[in-house]
Amino acid sequence: MVNTGDKPEGFEGEGFFATSLGKVIGLARANSLWPLPFATSCCGIEFMATMASNYDLGRFGSERLSFSPRQADLLMVMGTIAKKMAPVLKQVYDQMAEPKWVLSVGACACSGGIFDSYSVLQGIDKVIPVDVYVPGCPPRPEQIIEGLMKIQEMAKGESLRRRDSDEYKRMLESYHIETS
Ligand code: SF4
Repeated sequence: MVNTGDKPEGFEGEGFFATSLGKVIGLARANSLWPLPFATSCCGIEFMATMASNYDLGRFGSERLSFSPRQADLLMVMGTIAKKMAPVLKQVYDQMAEPKWVLSVGACACSGGIFDSYSVLQGIDKVIPVDVYVPGCPPRPEQIIEGLMKIQEMAKGESLRRRDSDEYKRMLESYHIETS
C-alpha cells in the first residue's frame, strides 16, 4: 500500500486547494528526508532492522541512504563516539548542506551511555547541535522510527527563514561552526 502525506493547512473548495509555499516545501522536505547513517556500534544493528522489511523506513520516504554528506539532510548518529572520532563527526555535519537535521540514537550518542570514560565523547551535542534524542540501550526500531517522525514534524513546521535567522547563526557559532 502506498502512503501519502497529510495535506497541509489551507483553503479548499470545489476544484481548488490553496496553501502557502512554506507549507508545501515543509511537506516535501518532511517526506523525503535522506539519512546519512553514522553508525559505529550496536545501535547500528537496530538501524539495520529499522531499514529492513519488518519496519521499513521507506514508508516514510527515507529509504534512500546517503554515505555522502553532500547528498544527505538527516544525520543519524548511532553508537559510541570516541573523542578521537568527534572531529570526523563534526566534519561530516559541516559538509551537509542546509537544511539539515540531527537524530541522536541511543544512550551512547546521546550521553556517552555506560562508557563514562576518558576516551568516549559524553554526548554528540558536545560537538554538533542535535534536534531529537532517542534514548535506550539499544533503542528498538519503533523508537528510532518515532525519532524520525519527530524530525518530520520539525521539518514540516519549520519556517523557510529559520536557517537565516540570527538565533540559528548564534547557535552554530556556539559550536564554532562557520556560517556563510
Ligand atoms: S547505546 Fe547501548 S546498544 Fe547503543 S551503541 Fe551504546 S552500548 Fe551499544
